[in-house]
Amino acid sequence: MPLRITLINIYREKIHTVPLGLAYLKTYAEKIFNKRVKILIKEFSEKEIDNRLNEVLKDILKTKPRIIGFSCYMWNRDRVVYLSKLLKKENEKIKIILGGKEVSVNGGEILTDSKADALIEGEGEIAFAEIIKKTLSGSDWYNVGNIIIKRKNEIIKNKEKILRNLDDIPSPYLKEIFRNTSADYLILETSRGCPFNCPFCLWTIKKNIRFFSLNRVLKEIKWIIDNASRINSGRLKVIISDSDFLINPKRAEKILKFITSKAITKEIDWSITTNIKFITKDILKVSNNPHLKFSIGIQSINPKSIKILKRENLSLSLKETGKKLDMIIKYAPKSTIILEIMIGIPGETEKDIQKTFRWSMERVIKHILKTKSEKEIENFKKNDTFPINAYIDYCTLSVFPDTPMTKIAKRYKAKWMENPPYEIISTSTLSKENIKSYQKMAANMESKIKENILKIISDRYI
Ligand code: SF4
Repeated sequence: MPLRITLINIYREKIHTVPLGLAYLKTYAEKIFNKRVKILIKEFSEKEIDNRLNEVLKDILKTKPRIIGFSCYMWNRDRVVYLSKLLKKENEKIKIILGGKEVSVNGGEILTDSKADALIEGEGEIAFAEIIKKTLSGSDWYNVGNIIIKRKNEIIKNKEKILRNLDDIPSPYLKEIFRNTSADYLILETSRGCPFNCPFCLWTIKKNIRFFSLNRVLKEIKWIIDNASRINSGRLKVIISDSDFLINPKRAEKILKFITSKAITKEIDWSITTNIKFITKDILKVSNNPHLKFSIGIQSINPKSIKILKRENLSLSLKETGKKLDMIIKYAPKSTIILEIMIGIPGETEKDIQKTFRWSMERVIKHILKTKSEKEIENFKKNDTFPINAYIDYCTLSVFPDTPMTKIAKRYKAKWMENPPYEIISTSTLSKENIKSYQKMAANMESKIKENILKIISDRYI
């Protein structure tokens, strides 16, 4: 009889992403244990958990699992913890494991709250395989690397083990795991880890950067392109989840070239994240495609804030940043840009935030007006149907437990939420009301951009 394991993904309505992390656990474990394991992935929406909990429980228990694994994130933590407790109550013999970003930052507390047997911290493949091995041989899990586990009343945190060669994990795409997915977003991982040290970021805890081989990444992209219309009848979105996709520019160039040469006629949007510094002419020359979206980390244009965020090595002077953005206008005018700005940086004053807000608005408007034709602009004036290709994404700084940001935030007498999403509430230089008003402004950014463009166009034609 194979060891039956059920992995559960609770997804958000409208932002349903494929459970790539769980699929990696499955393909990696199946490669090692073959027929000795039977691993199922089950997905439920938040609504299903809230409205038909009993059926969800029955559905899970029907799979007769000996182990249940959940991926736990900030936004689904409460539901995961609740479900985990209920499942334990139903059958305490079932072993429960939680993994995912959230457990990396608040381990002990989640372990106690959820009554789970273990948490997998950070990368899960090796730990999950070790757990299976121990279970198959009837041993306990206390020595499994990379897990947090309770022994008597003590919480033990075992040493991290990470995969050196990412290609050791068989590709869930090429193994056809997502063949019948109903997700709107596919996640593509071409690398793991981040070599930088931004104190607010969860990647700071997991540094080692490793890459999937280029050959494998290109095969996965081809699979996505070939299967896109079957997976999603609308517009399929692919998020490349790397910490900074352009960190290895030559490699990124090859991948982008492949995407834009193959995907231009397909209804797929590709999103990548990078820092302004890594944008180059060569990259842009292969990125002039309306299906490509660059999320560009700027955070603030205030040098003092950049220093507080320890991003001097990732940021450029205002002049150089402007030059890079002009380069996008010149070489990749068809692509879309999103400028990522942060609200609530300790030490920032209202004046600093306003400066960054004003600058980002000017840059976005410049981008739109310089990259759209006269005809498109004229149409916009008439009927407001202007597909804008530049946005601003204002996010509030989160102070995740155990990240170096907690120390910095305390130094600036900041207050932040005790629970997810751990957002800054106030700092020594920004009141609660100040932050709230900027958050409100940020929520209306798209209509503000359109309003400003309309005004500029109208003035132009007076
Ligand atoms: S913010 Fe970006 S560059 Fe900085 S540590 Fe996180 S992933 Fe790396």
